[in-house]
Amino acid sequence: MSENGELAGYKGLALEVLQNIGAEIGDFIRVIKGGQVFEGILIPRSEYGDDKHVVIKLRSGYNIGVRLTPDAKVERVGRGEKPAFVAPPLPEQNPALPKVSIISTGGTIASRVDYRTGAVRPALTASDLYSVVPELADIARIDAQILFSLYSENITPAHWAEMAKTVAEKIAEGVDGVVIAHGTDTMGYSAAALSFALQNLPVPVIFVGSQRSADRPSSDAATNLTGAVLAAAKAPFAEVAVAMHETISDTAIVLHRGTKVRKCHTSRRDAFKSVNAKPLAKIVEKRVVMLAEDYKRRDPSRKLVVKPNFSGKVALIKFYPGMDPAIIDWHVDNGYKAIVLEGTGLGHVSNRLFQPIKRAIEKGVVVAMASQCIWGRVNMNVYDTGRDLLALGVTPLEDMLAETATVKLMWIFGQTDNPEEAKQLLKTNIAGEFSQRTLHEEMREDIKQ
Ligand code: GLU
Repeated sequence: MSENGELAGYKGLALEVLQNIGAEIGDFIRVIKGGQVFEGILIPRSEYGDDKHVVIKLRSGYNIGVRLTPDAKVERVGRGEKPAFVAPPLPEQNPALPKVSIISTGGTIASRVDYRTGAVRPALTASDLYSVVPELADIARIDAQILFSLYSENITPAHWAEMAKTVAEKIAEGVDGVVIAHGTDTMGYSAAALSFALQNLPVPVIFVGSQRSADRPSSDAATNLTGAVLAAAKAPFAEVAVAMHETISDTAIVLHRGTKVRKCHTSRRDAFKSVNAKPLAKIVEKRVVMLAEDYKRRDPSRKLVVKPNFSGKVALIKFYPGMDPAIIDWHVDNGYKAIVLEGTGLGHVSNRLFQPIKRAIEKGVVVAMASQCIWGRVNMNVYDTGRDLLALGVTPLEDMLAETATVKLMWIFGQTDNPEEAKQLLKTNIAGEFSQRTLHEEMREDIKQ
């Protein structure tokens, strides 16, 4: 998300040319080159774009990138209206409604597209939200804040710590629930991180994202956000969850437990699935219907415990045929404290990795095994390979998602440096990250869709 003001996304040569003619986003510009004339509104560029093109919205409505060759003549032909968004006044807040705090970290859900210029801006002041999704005013009294404006692939454990602390501040102010707007790509990781960092939660903390931006007719942004606010305001559980579409249609929003959820599709609105677990709840006709039997109940008198530290020295390594065993050695030699292996099937890696794994464990590195199958439970007692790995001291991760296990180990090594204590914590179910019984039905349901 670009934040650099009047010429968002432009840099180098293109920025220089635009500055020389005094152009700003939204102005009408003309580029004449090679006998052709391109005229239209200057629109922002992606921050990853090169420095040699300007992007113009033509009168036809199409956007075109024009390369600034040495013969190109660029001029500003008119001042455009700035892509300023004037939000309507805040609606009357109904004092009888629950209080929900929305914290925005970025991603598609937290952006608003300016239709005229194509600019994408963070849009999470309370008044922006009410103007985009006015029905929120009937559900809760909302306060909103922008914590980050990041694509979620740029979120790090340090950001998880900031999110946890901000949620804690809001809970201390007495809100009935918190919503965190987040990019979908790594939303599962952040939800797992906060599940470990926020212990003894009194109220729900609901992550929400959207797969399709608000300018597309198929957008899921408003329905997901409404569902998330409803859950934060009214759900009977006090856990970290992810609220997204249950199916590809708009029928229901489903709430997945933060430690059991994974993005399983690149673009579908029902991309998020609970893996090896039932979803916590779903929202049907504005009511939160619980699906899980075992959950932590909402209790505003409970005292939140915040443990926001994470270690960056934990690696998630997917095994593949022919993998170079030196990859394990590299992590050991570079001070990694834990390695989550995403092994094949029931929890296997090639015997060529045994020696470096043995060395890692002898040096105090915690080596744990999840399965790249995603669904099902690791069982390292069935084949020799698994038994040999257990004998080396590899910790099996039951039916935990590899991503959740990685986040959990990052969190564990934010609390302790002792590998034995770390292993004990890894085997303790802290936030519903593993279960005793594997649910085969859920997998079949997901495959059917
Ligand atoms: N890849 C970005 C992200 O995860 C944008 C897409 C989205 O919001 O889902 O933040």
